[in-house]
Amino acid sequence: MKAIKTLLISIILTILNPAESAAQNDLPVLTNLNEIDNSITGINNYWLEMGSDTFGKPILIPVVVIQGFTSGPTLGLTAAIHGNELNGIAIIHELVETIDVKLLKGRIVAIPGLNAVSVELDQRRFSDDEDLNRNFPGKETGNRSEQYAYKISERVLPVFDFQIDMHTASFGRTNTMYARADVSNDTIVTLARLQGADIILNSKGTPSFGNTSTSSRTMRAETGLKGNLGITVEYGNPQVYQKDIVSRGLQGVYNSLVYLNMYTGTIEKSKYSTTYCKKSYWIYMEEGGFLEVLVELNQLLKKGDKMAVVKNAFGQVLKEYFAPEDGIVIGKSTNPANMSGGRIIHLGILDN
Ligand SMILES: [Zn+2]
Repeated sequence: MKAIKTLLISIILTILNPAESAAQNDLPVLTNLNEIDNSITGINNYWLEMGSDTFGKPILIPVVVIQGFTSGPTLGLTAAIHGNELNGIAIIHELVETIDVKLLKGRIVAIPGLNAVSVELDQRRFSDDEDLNRNFPGKETGNRSEQYAYKISERVLPVFDFQIDMHTASFGRTNTMYARADVSNDTIVTLARLQGADIILNSKGTPSFGNTSTSSRTMRAETGLKGNLGITVEYGNPQVYQKDIVSRGLQGVYNSLVYLNMYTGTIEKSKYSTTYCKKSYWIYMEEGGFLEVLVELNQLLKKGDKMAVVKNAFGQVLKEYFAPEDGIVIGKSTNPANMSGGRIIHLGILDN
């Protein structure tokens, strides 16, 4: 009787713990992505070691390598360098589910959770409250975020020929689907166009704020300095999966593969039209209060259009905000409660 009971328990445990969960614990652990064996075709999963935690356990990030049967370039997909920006992870998961490896030339190296430390904490910033994406190239013997960024610079980025860095808006804000790209480079701007984004914003990947010392670059700027071509795509909102944006993003990845001669297929034209912006900036509140943004994402504004109203706690209007020039709404605040300096809208200035 005891033996039957033991057998039943083991059957139930097997059902509850399918082979996949055991398999994810038994994956090879790499210390650098240059250790990937290109002769192993198909979809293969790894962990990449990125330092160690307080208890001495390795910090591991997931790596999916999709290796085609013929040689070619490497497309890198990096999701969640800001730990609460998750739509890119869903795009990578759908790619793994749908791709036909027989049609792939070269390989895709996808990282669904680059900032593993912050993904677990549901937070944008790293554990020392730094923005990882303003800390490149990092420092080998620097602080927490500098060492982590250094490991990305040394262990991840050099294996990419092309890179799509996958982001979303931050908490308290909402974004269109837009791409940041250096439009002076033909390949980069074409990659950006193929994403089906609402907006393409010309930007070289240098920090949009803060100091401009060599240790405050974005990952995309670092990719560019390594001689590789990268774009950043902002896929909507943080800490959610948005089905429509994920499917647009997935199509963008397939379009990129076809354009780069890495995949047999056709480029699908997006049903969304794209607006080109030569620059952009945030408009901030001059004094604190309760903010109501009156404009929508992707809305074209004329100079002088009313954008927002701020009231005090008693419901009296403190200030109205008007568009300082013609432009388009790239992103906006969704959080009414703001102190002075709170964000109102991210205004793109059209390139025409
Ligand atoms: Zn981000």
